[in-house]
Amino acid sequence: MASSSSSPEEQYGNEATDNYETTCWGCGLRVMLPSCASVFKCGWCGAITDHNKKKHDEKCFGWRVLRDRCFLSVVMVFMFFVILGGVWAIYPVVFSVSLLWGIFHSIITTILSIATISFFSLAAFRCAGTPPNILWGSYPTVGKGDLDNYRFCHYCLKPKSPRAHHCRSCGKCILDMDHHCPFIGNCVGAANHYSFICFIISAVLSTNYVSIMAVYSSWHMWPPLSHTLGRLKGITGRDVAWRIMNEIFIAFLRSALFLSSRGLLLLYLFIASFSLQIGLSVLLWQQLSLIYEGKTYLSNLSSQEDNEEEEEEEEKKDCQNLVRFFGLQYSVSRFLSIFHVTRKRHDT
Ligand SMILES: [Zn+2]
Ligand SMILES: [Zn+2]
Ligand SMILES: [Zn+2]
Repeated sequence: MASSSSSPEEQYGNEATDNYETTCWGCGLRVMLPSCASVFKCGWCGAITDHNKKKHDEKCFGWRVLRDRCFLSVVMVFMFFVILGGVWAIYPVVFSVSLLWGIFHSIITTILSIATISFFSLAAFRCAGTPPNILWGSYPTVGKGDLDNYRFCHYCLKPKSPRAHHCRSCGKCILDMDHHCPFIGNCVGAANHYSFICFIISAVLSTNYVSIMAVYSSWHMWPPLSHTLGRLKGITGRDVAWRIMNEIFIAFLRSALFLSSRGLLLLYLFIASFSLQIGLSVLLWQQLSLIYEGKTYLSNLSSQEDNEEEEEEEEKKDCQNLVRFFGLQYSVSRFLSIFHVTRKRHDT
């Protein structure tokens, strides 16, 4: 890769009263600009030079890495806790009901656990997307329009493609960056967006299943409410409904005192998985809507600032975006061609 001998920031000087001479970081050609123009696009290579962009302080980088590692550890511990806790608390109940039900539950649990852990590992430990390397810095090497809309990344000290963003938590440029997710300790970009969405889908399915099974198992092992419920028959007069609800609630709390450690764990699993599935479902809905619109979270933020761009983006809304994202296009077209061939055979 060709690079300029001095740093681009050193080349931006020579300011005059009306016009000033500066150098395009992309191709190295010198240009005269009016003093008010701090951002310009090179007529030859198409690279954008922005003199307003200042490099931010990188003091917090260590803290961000530490924060990401803490979140990542908490998420991993929580996942193993739900899987092992669920096995310990739910399995005895399910197997006591019937062997067939127990085997079916084991198969579902294994599939959901393997899917969630695999997609989580792919999203968290895979590079989120490296922008392509490109020649830059000197005129004969860089052809016309080679760096169209490229900007210079002051952190990585190399060109940043129009679809790339620099992540200050990861310390590098990420292609098609959606957002930096501290819970996976990684950016969500071109290379791991699919794994991230699949992780959320399997996490939503798993938390749904855990909360349903926690309620089912609790129902089987909850201490009896019968002695209190017998008193409900004697309630008459005004506010009957309210008094019945009150009695049931008190009976529920009183019997909870006699819950075993298994029962308490089931209660915790239900509360944790239920609240988690609400948050994850909202995130999944937001992510799928953005994919449908053909945007990433960051490109959506920038298009909101620019209304004209938003109108252009409006046309891109299509279910094909979702089909393309999940790689279903090939399978769908293959299925359609098989269907077409079979129909032809039937017709002849
Ligand atoms: Zn240039
Ligand atoms: Zn960068
Ligand atoms: Zn990042």
